Amino acid sequence: MSFFKTGRKPFLISGPCSVETREQVLETANALKGMPLSLFRGGVWKPRTRPGSFEGLGETALSWLREMKASTGLPVAIEVAETTHVELALEYGIDVLWIGARTTVNPFQVQRLADALKGVRIPVMVKNPVNPDADLWLGAIERMEQAGITDLAAVHRGFSAYKSTGYRNQPNWPIPIELKRRRRDLPIFCDPSHIAGSRDKVAQVAQKAMDMHFDGLMIEVHPRPEEAWSDAEQQMTPEALQALLDGLIIREQYVPGMGKGPELEYLRQIMDSLDAEIIDLLTRRMDLSIRIGEVKKASHMTAYQPDRWCEIVQTRSEQARKQGIPEDFIIALYEKIHHESIKKQLEILQENTGAA
Ligand code: PEP
Ligand code: MN
Repeated sequence: MSFFKTGRKPFLISGPCSVETREQVLETANALKGMPLSLFRGGVWKPRTRPGSFEGLGETALSWLREMKASTGLPVAIEVAETTHVELALEYGIDVLWIGARTTVNPFQVQRLADALKGVRIPVMVKNPVNPDADLWLGAIERMEQAGITDLAAVHRGFSAYKSTGYRNQPNWPIPIELKRRRRDLPIFCDPSHIAGSRDKVAQVAQKAMDMHFDGLMIEVHPRPEEAWSDAEQQMTPEALQALLDGLIIREQYVPGMGKGPELEYLRQIMDSLDAEIIDLLTRRMDLSIRIGEVKKASHMTAYQPDRWCEIVQTRSEQARKQGIPEDFIIALYEKIHHESIKKQLEILQENTGAA
């Protein structure tokens, strides 16, 4: 029986970004008690970007969490980043551990945590790495599994972006969707607080996650968010969380008698045949590319020709604009198609030349 598979949707994890004072923990937990909460969260060791910020209260915070659990009965989750954190968490009876985004990026550290968890039966959540890499995320999950952890969930908290995108961490939805495709068995939760970065956007990201068929939500709350010692902009009051939950629409993957009904079935058949045509066209395009590669080879031309690529980008994006589909989508698609063509043509140019 999995701790994370309650059948309740969303599986709700909430609590403060950081445990700050005994009163803050008890006040928050009491306010959350009446909500459909599955797990209380609280940061005990905080990974901070710059030194000098509040880095968590460690063992003192653990003792308050233990007290809170004794009085409310709420199970507790904390982030662990060091093997000493794992040892202390177990000593204080913490129910669930999570691996933070800044740890998931580092396979050495994930392995150290996995080694510390060998033989321990505890549910673990693995947040995505800060960079958009589904394999790295999956790798951390697999390291936990190899250590014998069977009760696992993934948490999508967004990805660092070079340019500001309006979110603190850009959601990059295709990455968690790819993870879910590869691991259908794994519950996947969304942390809209760390994606949004500001409390006014949390509800909108939470709704999107529900519409993307996520299983749960991790949302930061604080009795007085503006006074919080970490992530003050994105934490919300318990009342605001209640309002968010009240407004959340939970849609079904299939609606009985409708979702699988004739209308959807018909539209899907059309979609299937369009996709088959797309793959057919791509095959023909690739064959043409090979013939062009042979001509280039015979005429001692380079495989990649910047002018031609500029022309492709310009004409295809112009057509996209006229037809009302996003130009950046078409450019990204053509980058992939063109890259594959050039790869094939390079192979042709290098055939029988001994070049690797
Ligand atoms: C957190 O949940 O408080 C946290 C630090 O998360 P992340 O690892 O996603 O940054
Ligand atoms: Mn936080």
